Amino acid sequence: MGRGTTLLGIRALIISDVHSNADALGAVLEDAGPCDELWSLGDIVGYGAEPERCIELLSAFDGVFHGVSGNHDLAALGRVPVTGFVPAGREAIEWTIPRLGETECVWLDRPPSLIIEPRSLFWHGGPLDPIWGYLNSITAAEAAFESVGDGRGFCGHTHRPIIYFQSHRGIKTDRLVPRSGHRFDLSDFGSRVLINPGSVGQPRDGDSRAAYAIIDTKDDWIEWRRVEYPIENCREKILSAGLPPVLADRLTHGI
Ligand code: ZN
Repeated sequence: MGRGTTLLGIRALIISDVHSNADALGAVLEDAGPCDELWSLGDIVGYGAEPERCIELLSAFDGVFHGVSGNHDLAALGRVPVTGFVPAGREAIEWTIPRLGETECVWLDRPPSLIIEPRSLFWHGGPLDPIWGYLNSITAAEAAFESVGDGRGFCGHTHRPIIYFQSHRGIKTDRLVPRSGHRFDLSDFGSRVLINPGSVGQPRDGDSRAAYAIIDTKDDWIEWRRVEYPIENCREKILSAGLPPVLADRLTHGI
C-alpha cells in the first residue's frame, strides 16, 4: 500500500524503464521541473551502463517517491531467475549485479504493485502479472479492466507511450497513442484508464527521445513528453563497459 497520500493537488512526474540510462534520466528530471511526487513504474536498472548513477539521481528526488519493481530490477536483486531474459538482457543483468552495493539494493527493493488512494494502481507489467505481463493490446487492456474495475492503472514494460480507456464500462475499450506535448483531461476518458508513460532509457516506438509524463491531480490532466538527451554519451558508456553493442545501437533508433 502507498502512504495514503491524498491526490488532491499533486503534480507528479511519471517514469518507467529508465534502464540504467543516466543521460536520459538526467534530461527528464531537468525537463520536468519541480514535482511533488515521482511515480516510477519499474526497471530502473538493466540494459544500460549506469545503474548506480540512476539510483543516485532518483534517491535525490526532492519529493515523495512511489515506485514498483520491474523484472530487470528483481533479477538484479536475485528475486527472479535471469533465464527469463533475452541473451543481451541477461548479460546486462549479470553485469549489473556486482555493481549494486547494499544501499542500492535496499533502495531498489520495491513491491511489484502499489495502490495509492484514490484508486491509482501501479505495476510494471499489468494487474494480472505485475512483473512479466504486457499491456500491449486492446484484449490485454480489457482483461486488465475486468480485473481491476474502476480506477487508473499506471504501467510500463512495453517501452511505448499509450493510454487505454473504457468510456462505457465494459462496452468498448479504446486506445490512443500520445505524442510529445499532448495534454489530456483525464475526466474525458471515463473512470477506467490504463496509462503507460513510455520509456525514459530505452524507447521502442521509433522515437529515440526519452519519454515521460506529468500528471496534475488537481486539474486532472496528464501530459506526455519527449526530451532529447546525449545518446552518443550513453552509447559510448555501454560499449566501453563491454555490454552487448545491440544495447547501444537500439538507442539511436528508439527500437
Ligand atoms: Zn523495461
